[in-house]
Amino acid sequence: METQIRKLSYDRIDEEVIKEAGEILKKGGLVAFPTETVYGLGGDALNPASSGKIYAAKGRPSDNPLIVHIAKREDLDRIAEDVPEKARRLMNAFWPGPLTLILKKKPLVPDKTTGGLPTVAVRMPSDRIAAGLILAAGGFVAAPSANVSGRPSTTTASHVAEDLGGKIEMILDGGQAVIGLESTIVDVSVDPPMILRPGAVTKSMLEGEIGKVETDKAIIAPDSGIRPKAPGMKYRHYAPRASLMVVEGEQEAVISAIRRLAGEARQAGKKVGIIATDETASRYPEGLVQSLGARSREEEISAHLFEVLRRFDDMEADCIYSEAFQEGEMGTAIMNRLLKAAGHQVLNV
Ligand code: AMP
Ligand code: MG
Repeated sequence: METQIRKLSYDRIDEEVIKEAGEILKKGGLVAFPTETVYGLGGDALNPASSGKIYAAKGRPSDNPLIVHIAKREDLDRIAEDVPEKARRLMNAFWPGPLTLILKKKPLVPDKTTGGLPTVAVRMPSDRIAAGLILAAGGFVAAPSANVSGRPSTTTASHVAEDLGGKIEMILDGGQAVIGLESTIVDVSVDPPMILRPGAVTKSMLEGEIGKVETDKAIIAPDSGIRPKAPGMKYRHYAPRASLMVVEGEQEAVISAIRRLAGEARQAGKKVGIIATDETASRYPEGLVQSLGARSREEEISAHLFEVLRRFDDMEADCIYSEAFQEGEMGTAIMNRLLKAAGHQVLNV
């Protein structure tokens, strides 16, 4: 299959292209599209055959349910029931935006889309290309991240083409995704609501709207053997081809530990990658040093993380050492992805 790539400008979104992409989805085909979080691989959420194609294109286990994207708030009530008051409050505060809610599903949503679960994950993205496409497709678009399962999520159309070129009908190119990490997932089918995946909408932002919110223990203590409540969180994810280790501690100690480890690996004939920041990049004299941006601007760090992990694949790094990113509002989400990419290899110095 030849994948068409269509470039779109947010200044004047070409409605003809959106219509054409919507028709592909209506006919059961797949279209990748930009959102404010990462690129999504879209299919008609109400068509089980489309969901089947999404799992196949990604190589995704079919017990890993898909997020259903909507563009109008009133459409929610066609796919979810018993929507609690707290969920409504979160929608008022954060929709459209990077927040996914887990709700009890209505029969209209096929089991194939929810991986057989009685609940459905729903998000209303703020990206205008995404919203236009969802409407053009009939209102309900299932869209996991547009990457081959296990690889870092995609934040540009060329990353999507790298993973899914030849397997899907179309890619809408809207440039670089602004946030760069997937949505926060909150299960509001339980009380108190529970964060299943951290993202740009943080725990304190959620608690500011609805009071106490819990966090899935499998996220806090990943080695505890507790089964995560979001099925997808149990898989190794975001993994670069190289082995990755996160080095945590006070800044100077981290820099000297990474310098030492990188030196040793190089001695052993390995191609070494280093994930640094604008503040520290010049402190590493050897290795392929990639800065995620200024540590003082965490939105730069989150926007570049997946791109940098992919770049190390292109450069064929054998091992990567990364500084840790614990602080700030987004620290929890950034570290969650980084630790998953590292398979939880952490060195405390
Ligand atoms: P992705 O679309 O690639 O960002 O992944 C979607 C994430 O949402 C995966 O981790 C899924 O396991 C999770 N998810 C989707 N639907 C549900 C649901 N009904 N209950 C719990 N987690 C879900
Ligand atoms: Mg994903």
